[in-house]
Amino acid sequence: MTDWTDPLTPVLGGKTADALENALNLHTVGELLRHYPRRYAERGELTEIAGLEIGEHATVLAEVQRVAKRSMRSRRGSILEVRITDGRRGLNCTFFNQAWRERELIPGKKGLFAGKITAYRGQLQLANPEYQLIEPEMEQNQGDAAGGSSVVTEFTSALIPVYPAAQGLPSWSIARCVRQVLDTWDGAEDPLSGELRDQLGVADLTQALRDIHLPVDWAAVDAARERLKWDEALSVQLALAQRRQAADARPAPACPPRSGGILDDFDQRIPFALTEGQQTIGAVVSRDVSREHPMNRLVQGEVGSGKTVVALRAMLQVVDAGRQAAMLAPTEVLAAQHARSLAELLGELATAGEFGAPDHATRITLLTGSMGAAQRRKAMLEVVSGEAGIVVGTHALIQDKVEFADLGMVVVDEQHRFGVEQRDALRARAGSQISPHVLVMTATPIPRTVAMTVYGDLEVSALRELPRGRSPIKSTVVPVAEKPAWLDRVWQRIKEEVAAGHQAYVVCPRIGDQSSSGEDVEPPPTGNESSDRRPPLAVFDVAPELAEGPLRGLRVAMLHGKLPSDEKDTVMRAFGAGEVDVLVATTVVEVGVNVPNATAMVIMDADRFGVSQLHQLRGRVGRGSAPGLCLLVTDAPAGTTTMQRLDAVAGTTDGFELARLDLELRREGDILGAAQSGKRSGLRLLSLLDDEDVIAQARERADKLVAADPSLSEHPGLAGMVADLVDEDRAEYLQKT
Ligand code: ADP
Ligand code: MG
Repeated sequence: MTDWTDPLTPVLGGKTADALENALNLHTVGELLRHYPRRYAERGELTEIAGLEIGEHATVLAEVQRVAKRSMRSRRGSILEVRITDGRRGLNCTFFNQAWRERELIPGKKGLFAGKITAYRGQLQLANPEYQLIEPEMEQNQGDAAGGSSVVTEFTSALIPVYPAAQGLPSWSIARCVRQVLDTWDGAEDPLSGELRDQLGVADLTQALRDIHLPVDWAAVDAARERLKWDEALSVQLALAQRRQAADARPAPACPPRSGGILDDFDQRIPFALTEGQQTIGAVVSRDVSREHPMNRLVQGEVGSGKTVVALRAMLQVVDAGRQAAMLAPTEVLAAQHARSLAELLGELATAGEFGAPDHATRITLLTGSMGAAQRRKAMLEVVSGEAGIVVGTHALIQDKVEFADLGMVVVDEQHRFGVEQRDALRARAGSQISPHVLVMTATPIPRTVAMTVYGDLEVSALRELPRGRSPIKSTVVPVAEKPAWLDRVWQRIKEEVAAGHQAYVVCPRIGDQSSSGEDVEPPPTGNESSDRRPPLAVFDVAPELAEGPLRGLRVAMLHGKLPSDEKDTVMRAFGAGEVDVLVATTVVEVGVNVPNATAMVIMDADRFGVSQLHQLRGRVGRGSAPGLCLLVTDAPAGTTTMQRLDAVAGTTDGFELARLDLELRREGDILGAAQSGKRSGLRLLSLLDDEDVIAQARERADKLVAADPSLSEHPGLAGMVADLVDEDRAEYLQKT
């Protein structure tokens, strides 16, 4: 008699329970049952070896092809080399000092082999893998009956579940634990009512859980997955629907437009005509902030599509209403840059308090975490007194208890580092019951499914059109593994750009020097750290090498997250003023940095960046009248998926196309971000790429359910599902802050 929340120890024994806890963070029966197989190996069908990634912990069903034993020259001992195959490609398994395994690893035998995939001399290999041989069905019973067989098969069904495994806890051990638990399990109470299940046409939970682990056939797997996906989609959508409802219900500071105010003044002095998209979204946003309930809107627009102007106009409407607007940026560099470009756009309209300022002028105040005490006090004073109409800062703005005189709206720039929870914190911050309007801006194109989940608490508007006169960006992959000479050509091109009066960025994935953490580095998109790759190139190494080598004579400067913020600012200013030719930087230049005279970008170790990130990065060039050039330098071998990814980035500047590609290549957890994926609660089966239908249907249903019953009091099962999800998210979020 085992229940969902029972600990695993009584069922499996302390040693096994500990192993599950340590390796996979599974503590209860429910958690183990929610640890679904990643896929199924079909008896008789071998796993495709070509699909394996270096660094991955893999479980493959393969056949022993040949076995060779040799003794180690240097030390006493032996190496057993076993080549396994899927019939097309081979994989080398090496066993050290385990020569006896020769007796059971006989060519022709099939089995599951598990371990971390590494590369050795250009070949994929598994060092000291764990394995479990599978007897052919014919022999299986004989073997069991004889009892003396050294290999007892664990697998009775035609479909062998393959679990996300860990070192020392191979897939088949997990399978054994699951079977043991299922043997004594009474089943779970289904959070979906029978009526709802009928409407959706899905199986009940107990059946689905049994079938996902021990399917009799593929049809059972499909039905189970379908049902369990619904759980995931529905709980996420219910949580979001409740959030939306709660957010909508809050009062917000109404900021209706005022004629003859600072916004009108600004519109008159703006040196260009707004694009159609800017006008349309501007009107929607203007209506939103006029309301007495908070705006929760995401504006997505390609890099350079003019989002800042949209945000500024909304902020000016708020200032016209006598309130304040805050703009949050992910980094201090960006905050400073935003403050500068807003000031530039506003001109004398930002000079409130200065001699000769126009009537409607306001003040832009910069507030960042690392300001000196005196400076900070002055800034805080401007904020609390209401003198500052527009406050620009980093997230420290919300984390510290900054008092606003009357905060009407918050603009969050470059949203992809910002989660649902953080947006909640923003809305709650105004202290009182009143929530500010929230406008989020992102340059990352957002596929519909992502909009419905990650940004599900927001209305989404897209700015599709680029202002006229924007220059195209030409991207080229520089494959230095095959064509080492191309690298010289890269530096030659940079010198040409500089000679023509332009500037360039060189982006590296790592800071280097004393910093080993590499704060700005995004893990490679597969999420695999492979021990035998060289470390990514670092700013600290590359900058001097260039300055003393191929770019000698040019003015080279460094920019990275470890610089004190005033130095960052000095460097950015110098670059902006054209006093630096080449800026060697980490991804701190990724977002928002706007130096129209910079026309070229070289991205070193481009394979270490994600698709969206590359797209964002190259958006920094081609912002002026001269065409932009982006060179993606990589030593990735030809024909690898890594190379395909880079070719795809070079081949299109269509952000939506790239977003889709990114979605394909990244695991869902990466996309959702830690705070939302939740190791426990996140999406395990639901795919943002493939399950648009389920997600859309779940959203619709969730909206209806919440509209009729906001607290889900008539649906305790659903309420519980949501509570689990939200609790776990929150717990993780709190741990991170
Ligand atoms: P984003 O933030 O979307 O990347 P920005 O708002 O920074 O883009 O705009 C990029 C550049 O284009 C800025 O220099 C801005 O002044 C300019 N810009 C914005 N809107 C227009 C427009 N309608 N016509 C011409 N230039 C524009
Ligand atoms: Mg911007």
